[in-house]
Amino acid sequence: MGEPGETVRRATRLAAAALFVAGVGAFVSAAPDPAAVPADLVLRGGQVYTLDAPRRWAESIAIRNGRIVSVGSDAEVAAHVGAGTRIVELAGRMVLPGFHDSHVHPLAGGVELGQCSLSGLATPEAVFAKIGACAAALPAAAWLVGSGFELTMFPGGNPRREDLDRVVSDRPAVFSSTDGHSSWVNSQALAIAGVTRDTPDPPGGRIERDETGTPSGTLRESAAALVGSHVPPITPAERRAGLRRGLEMAARLGITSFIEASADEAELGTYEEAAREGWLGARVTVSQRLDAAAGEGAVPALAARARRAAGPRLRADSAKLFVDGVIEGGTAALDEPYAGRGEDRGELLFEPAALARLAVALARERLQLHAHAIGDRAIRVTLDAIEAARAATGWTDARPHLAHIQLLPPAQIARFRGLGAAANVQALWAYEDPFITDLTVPRLGADRSRWLYPIGSLLAGGAVVVGGSDWSVTSMNPLQAIEVGLTRRAPGSGPGPAWIPEERATLSAMLAAYTINGAWLQRAEAERGSIEVGKLADLVVLERNLFDVPPHEISRVKVVKTLLEGKDRF
Ligand SMILES: [Zn+2]
Repeated sequence: MGEPGETVRRATRLAAAALFVAGVGAFVSAAPDPAAVPADLVLRGGQVYTLDAPRRWAESIAIRNGRIVSVGSDAEVAAHVGAGTRIVELAGRMVLPGFHDSHVHPLAGGVELGQCSLSGLATPEAVFAKIGACAAALPAAAWLVGSGFELTMFPGGNPRREDLDRVVSDRPAVFSSTDGHSSWVNSQALAIAGVTRDTPDPPGGRIERDETGTPSGTLRESAAALVGSHVPPITPAERRAGLRRGLEMAARLGITSFIEASADEAELGTYEEAAREGWLGARVTVSQRLDAAAGEGAVPALAARARRAAGPRLRADSAKLFVDGVIEGGTAALDEPYAGRGEDRGELLFEPAALARLAVALARERLQLHAHAIGDRAIRVTLDAIEAARAATGWTDARPHLAHIQLLPPAQIARFRGLGAAANVQALWAYEDPFITDLTVPRLGADRSRWLYPIGSLLAGGAVVVGGSDWSVTSMNPLQAIEVGLTRRAPGSGPGPAWIPEERATLSAMLAAYTINGAWLQRAEAERGSIEVGKLADLVVLERNLFDVPPHEISRVKVVKTLLEGKDRF
């Protein structure tokens, strides 16, 4: 029969379990748990900042089948070391949940790296030398396409076609600025596009002109498409290569999850391929670009694409709306006019009522709203639209987010918490670089400029703050943004006075922005964003504990290892 034996064994096991329960307080941190399952991987001897709700610290993490099975002291986790367990000795290094970059362009940025990239070139000489070299390497008559020049290198942020003609006159050339809101073109590109003094500014764009009205070589916002539409399209192979470059960069910087900030249908298709073929080495939410002209009629197709794309590492249930432009180009929408420009308050790319209708349509389809909103007027009408969508649909868990939020006065800061909207900040921009001193403060005046990138006030007001790089606009390195969030000084520039010191953030707030808050924004806070038993083992190991590093040295700390589901990504 065998039953008595069964009973005995069961009774013994129950007794043993009772013993463990009784002794729990005494020995959990000392004695190994004999029931512990051997882990695939144990990281031990580290300084683990868990980002769980009590913000606990631990020494060791055990991982099995891609998930965390134990977090605690070295002694606690030791029970999970079996014969086949790989052990990583951390030697006091810091472990954090993998970074979440909540606004980044890995695919387009990766494509740019394969073109003529001017990124990081600090002098006009270096820029022109690089452009000349790029042109020389191309077949005859091919378009020279590039990106990454700094507007601040040119008087008034207005590069001229003649300057480009001097280096490239035998072929059309077009370069986009680091912020992606201006294009610099040569005369041949203007000629091919048929852009002359008689060409009117398109809606939502501006053709910069000389005294005679002749296009001078800079095209803002939608005007860039006048030339851009003549450039040979990016091929599928170029998109795939671009995404691979972007993913590799993210892995090296400790980023395991990100929000693709703007993708068209073809770009979303590349992400879907990567997911299907098993090389999407990060957890991605794709924000599908939705133009004002398309309106709410485009929402059902967007929802269908989101359903098609959904998988373990990919989702696309997010829509990206550009509500305005940028202050340095004079295209951000302000409540009060730009200084010295008459009644010019910039331009909203959506009528407020149309934006509200679109927000309602998105909420009905359970699509997340991801807005580019820079000027105070753009921010205000976006929050109005979010409020309208909440009221119309009752969807209070929509988790909308506003990215950049550069000129953000107290009246709007106060609304984020109540509307459940996240503040998607690019903290790396919050210091006095030439964009601020030469192109922003003169356009706003000193009073309004107090409310540039008010991250401290957003935190104090209870807003959910998430961090994004906006790469390839600026560096993808989260540690640079975290440093500037604390110092409001140029990264790596050493100690000294902060720019608008009231708006500095704490390290714990910046780390939350790049981990658990980012996971929340991707609706994945139950799966990742903190180091807790049961969550995915997406981790980053840093060479030093950031809490022991002077704030102005944080950007120098190196990423030692990046793990995705317990496997080395870097
Ligand atoms: Zn962006």
